[in-house]
Order: sequence, then C-alpha cells, then structure tokens
Amino acid sequence: MKPLVVIGGGPAGYVAAITAARQGKQVTLIEQKDLGGTCLNEGCMPTKSLLASAEAYEKIKQAEQFGINLPLEQVKINWDGVQHHKTTIVKNLVKGISYLMKKNSIKVIKGEASFLTNHCLAVRNENHVEEIEAEQFIIAAGSEPASLPFAPFDGKWIIHSKQAMSLPAIPSSLLIVGGGVIGCEFASIYSQMGTKVTIVEAADQLLPGEDADIAFTLQEELEKKGVAIYTSSSLTEMQPKDKTALFKHKEELHELQAEYALISIGRKPRVLGLGLEQVGVHFSKQGIDVNEHMQTNIPNIYACGDVVGGIQLAHVAFHEGTVAALHACGKDKSVNYRAVPRCIYTHPEIASVGMTEKQARSEYGDIRVGEFSFTANGKAMIANESVGKVKVIVEPQFNEIIGLSIVGSYATELIGQGTIMMHGELTTDIMEDFIAAHPTLSEAIHEALLQSAGQAVHS
Ligand SMILES: Cc1cc2nc3c(=O)[nH]c(=O)nc-3n(C[C@H](O)[C@H](O)[C@H](O)COP(=O)(O)OP(=O)(O)OC[C@H]3O[C@@H](n4cnc5c(N)ncnc54)[C@H](O)[C@@H]3O)c2cc1C
Repeated sequence: MKPLVVIGGGPAGYVAAITAARQGKQVTLIEQKDLGGTCLNEGCMPTKSLLASAEAYEKIKQAEQFGINLPLEQVKINWDGVQHHKTTIVKNLVKGISYLMKKNSIKVIKGEASFLTNHCLAVRNENHVEEIEAEQFIIAAGSEPASLPFAPFDGKWIIHSKQAMSLPAIPSSLLIVGGGVIGCEFASIYSQMGTKVTIVEAADQLLPGEDADIAFTLQEELEKKGVAIYTSSSLTEMQPKDKTALFKHKEELHELQAEYALISIGRKPRVLGLGLEQVGVHFSKQGIDVNEHMQTNIPNIYACGDVVGGIQLAHVAFHEGTVAALHACGKDKSVNYRAVPRCIYTHPEIASVGMTEKQARSEYGDIRVGEFSFTANGKAMIANESVGKVKVIVEPQFNEIIGLSIVGSYATELIGQGTIMMHGELTTDIMEDFIAAHPTLSEAIHEALLQSAGQAVHS
C-alpha cells in the first residue's frame, strides 16, 4: 500500500500509526519531542503517579484505623523519591511505545513537520530540513495549555500543568485558577501533601459539566483537606512581583499570595505552524475541522485527537486515531461518541458517562434517578473509603440507562460498567437482574439501578 505519514506521537498519533501499519501501510511517524505525547510525558501518567504517591501517604496516615501502629511523626514525603517514581514510569512507558514502533516496522523521525503541499511535508530538526512525500497524512499534533491574556506563563510563578508536576519542592501554597479536571487533580495531589491550596473557578461549581451534587461531594472533601474554594469567581489581576493575585468573589475583591499560581483554564488545539493554510485544510482556534471519519476537507489528510478539539481525552484520541487510520486504509469506519467515560482522578475519584441529571431533565423531562451511597457498602467501609455515591439516570420511555455518575474510591474503574451499559443501550429492566459479586464496590451500581425502580434492598 502507498505510504502514510502521521504527525505527532501522542495517543492519537501512535495508535493511528500502529493501526495503519497493521493494515499493511508503509508508515512514518514524525514527533518533535517525545513519543507518548502529552498523555505519557506531561499529562495522564505523571499526574496519576503523583496522585498515587499522595494517596499512599494519606493511607499510611490512616494506619491506626487498620490496626497498624506506626511512628507517624516519622512518616514524611520524599519529594525526590516521588519525582523518581514518576519519571521511571514515564520512561518505561515511552520505551514501550518505541518498542511498538519497531515491532510494527514504523519509521520514526524526530522533527517538526509542516505541510508544503498536500503530498509533501518539511520536517525540521536542529540540523537540517528534510522533505517527506506521502499519499496520505494523519495530523495528531495535540494541544497545549491555554493562558490568560493578562497572566502569561513565566515558569517561575505563573505556571502550567507540565511545570506544576515537576516543581523543585512541595510548595507551601498554591493558587489554582480553574477548577476543571486538571485543576482539581492538582488540588488533590498537593492538598494531600500538605500544600495550602486555593481554587478560583468562574463557574458556579467545580468541574462544570459534571453532575452538581457529585462535584459538590468532591468540593466538601477537598475543603476537609484545607482547600479554599471560590466558585463564581473571576481572576482580575496578577502581580508576579509580590506573587499576589486579585480575584472577585460575590462582588468582593480578594487578594491572595501564593508560592505558585497554576493556570488550568483549558487546552488549545495546536493548529499553528503545521502549514494548514498552505494546503487549504479548514481549521479554527477550536481545532481542525473533520467529518465522522476524521477526514479533513482535503481527502488525503486526516486529523484526530486533541488537535480537532471536542473531547480532549486520551481514550477519545485512541478511538479517533484508530478510525482515521482504518478509514485511510479503505475501511468504512466512523467515530462513535455515544459512551465516552469521563474520569477525574481526585480523592475521592469521580467518573461519569452519558448525561448528568440536569442535562437529562432538560432533554427527557420526567426521568428516573437511582442513587446508592458508599456509606452503606461493606467493601468501601472496610477500605475506609465510604465517602461518595453512585447515581444512575434512566429515561422514562424504555427505561434506558442514559447516564451514570460515581464519586468515590475506584470510581474510574467502576465506570467501565456504565460505559458498557450505555454503549449497549441497556435498560434497567435488564440490569436489575444481574448479580454483583459480594462484597464489592460494584454492588453500589446494582443498588442504584434497583433504587431507580424503587426496589433497593440495602437503602
Ligand atoms: C495534566 C494533564 C492530565 C491529563 N490526564 C488525563 C487522563 O487522566 N486521562 C485522559 O484520558 N486524558 C488526560 N489528559 C488529556 C490527554 O493527555 C490528551 O487528551 C491526549 O494526550 C491527546 O492526545 P493527542 O495524541 O491528541 O495529543 P498529544 O498527546 O498532545 O500529542 C501530540 C504530539 O504531537 C507532537 N507534535 C505537535 N506538533 C507537531 C509537529 N508539527 N511535528 C511533529 N510533532 C508534533 C507533540 O510534540 C506531541 O508529542 C490530561 C492532560 C493533561 C495536560
């Protein structure tokens, strides 16, 4: 088959490259930095490693509740050790991608790619510029942190997520601007490590887009750890000289000093510098325009992952990368966004799929809601993790499950069950009869389904 070039070695790009190679294509992948992209090097993996360290620390502090005596005053975080754990995991995962490239005979070129024509790219690296021709292209150039116009990143005080995960020491205080997924994950990491954290969020709840009372459970837990949370608040000024931020909360102006200010207000697709104008690929600052096959308006050029905007998650990038590659190889594949799980790795975790209660009420009117709290779940009690609940949303006509939200321990693992229910368009009539193993956290899902039909046993 004719050659195909992938731009970007993150989740969208490396999966697209492997998929196309397995279809028999001759594939070249161009990456300007490290294989694995944001996800492996600056996103999903390093943050989850920091969270795991923070949670291990939290659990050790609860030793006595499990009947274990420890000299707790001697239990301390070794920040260099935390960083070492993180970098080791990242290095191993990146090596794994490199191995997959070799195994699938994918040629990897280091450099920055930009289009010259719709069949030719210029690839620049430190030493030279190389021209690469191909029949088809898949753009998977990802995204980068969005900044505030009056507070550009300086890496010293005003920082983005990549910088926040490699600070020289655990900060004494941290201002987080933006209480979305990334902001809440960092609030969880650092508050558990002893940092005085303040979140300033413009919306009227943390995690806008998630179910309000699920997000509120997280807010309460963060507050118990000493996090100060200001929702419906907007940042008005940043004064790097004296590390002071000004923000408005309920018409009142607040002044806050913090060792660092993390701006986590979203990520913008990396659409500039790719030479898209050169070849006439349609794009805006929201991302590259694509159809359901991830094909741009130029038929031999595809785009997938964060660079197309939409849902900026690694698993969505995997899916879009697969669809782009298969369609480029002649398969009739299109993307399916019906059941995309959304996971937030805070403590407690949050995970959801489908609609929130509010969204479902506005679309279906008279919905049914089933809930079950982990306070009544034996496995959660045993683990000392009984904060949280499962909430299931059911539409009135067919009893179809149209949303599931979980806040609590292992929510991000449990949500797989909701994803399958939603993907398979299952109804509560089917799901009420399933047997959940005992004792498990999954029982809470079963009970929430039963409760939606007024049949709950344990509540
Ligand atoms: C702090 C943080 C935590 C996150 N946690 C999660 C999580 O837990 N779960 C989850 O699902 N998602 C998470 N994400 C989001 C996830 O990282 C992204 O959705 C995912 O990485 C997108 O994959 P991608 O391949 O589209 O882009 P990227 O991973 O950004 O990869 C794009 C690659 O393209 C390269 N590139 C760009 N332009 C060029 C060019 N011109 N030439 C050559 N190479 C180029 C870049 O160097 C980069 O390596 C997180 C993100 C952040 C920032």
